[in-house]
Amino acid sequence: MSGPQVISLGNMLVEIMRVDLDEPLSLPGTFVGPFPSGDTPVYVNAVARLGHSAGFMGAVGQDGFGECILRRFAEQGVDARHVRVLPDRVTGIAFVAYAADGSRSFIFHWREAAAGQIGPEYVDEDYCRQARWLHLTGGNLVITPRSYEACLRALSLMAPDAKVSFDPNIRAEWLGRGDLLEQWQPVLERADYILPSAGEAALMTGAVDDETGCRQLAAAGKVVVLKQGAGGCTVYAGEAAHRIAGFDVAEIDPTGAGDTFCAGFTAAVLEGLDLADAAAFANAVGALAVTKKGPMEGAPTRAEVLALMAGGA
Ligand code: ATP
Ligand code: MG
Repeated sequence: MSGPQVISLGNMLVEIMRVDLDEPLSLPGTFVGPFPSGDTPVYVNAVARLGHSAGFMGAVGQDGFGECILRRFAEQGVDARHVRVLPDRVTGIAFVAYAADGSRSFIFHWREAAAGQIGPEYVDEDYCRQARWLHLTGGNLVITPRSYEACLRALSLMAPDAKVSFDPNIRAEWLGRGDLLEQWQPVLERADYILPSAGEAALMTGAVDDETGCRQLAAAGKVVVLKQGAGGCTVYAGEAAHRIAGFDVAEIDPTGAGDTFCAGFTAAVLEGLDLADAAAFANAVGALAVTKKGPMEGAPTRAEVLALMAGGA
């Protein structure tokens, strides 16, 4: 049976965000949404938009928010045959508020929602065996023990020559669940590409700073791409480190840039680009992601990426 080339699994959420800066989540105010979200759904949606086949394993509730995410998947051609619609749970929700200093705060309804019910039985053997690329994220490893088992099962079912990417994507709201490095060891061992954001490389390795953490992972044989917001990214491979400049765009909403960047990197590597060119392509994809409100809304087409790279914004 044929299936998508790129697969992922985990939390399916809608995002509901504050309209204005500095509207704390503790006070009455205005929200906009729902926008389809969840780190790994944002990733597969962007992979599909860039023209690669992508599929997802996860769960939504039987409600409008679930329909919101599934409609987007259908529009983009993301294979959802392994997404379950649970009649007795509501779809996961993330509420987000932005502060003027660029910081974000989140409230997640996830563990008790449909998104939190994922377990190893959601992971289809044939689906994993035929895929060429699996993308995992740290949030899905820490949220529930069964979600962790689901990620590990997918990992174990991938063909030996299939690629695995891992985005630690650590949110402070999810932490406090034991020693990350020890818990993540099976994923870090198998992962070919590790794609942390600022602060995450140090946090996940226990190193003094990101640079040291990235070099540590690269010395262990990983390709590490450190995402650096508007500054672009740095690629670490073996003993080499290359800074790849970002693109100048007007940032409207940064949430989801990291996941969309990972999708760009995946697409470029699958197309045979070398690491520096793949990182530059991913920078353009990530830059376009921040130009629209909503984590999936800025996912670019190939033509939009190429136009930005050619100098037209
Ligand atoms: P999230 O976890 O919210 O999805 P992140 O913190 O993992 O995001 P960032 O480092 O903010 O990821 O962004 C990922 C990539 O997107 C950057 O490496 C860069 O290529 C691009 N990017 C992000 N913000 C901007 C920006 N303001 N201008 C240009 N490019 C950006
Ligand atoms: Mg991130």
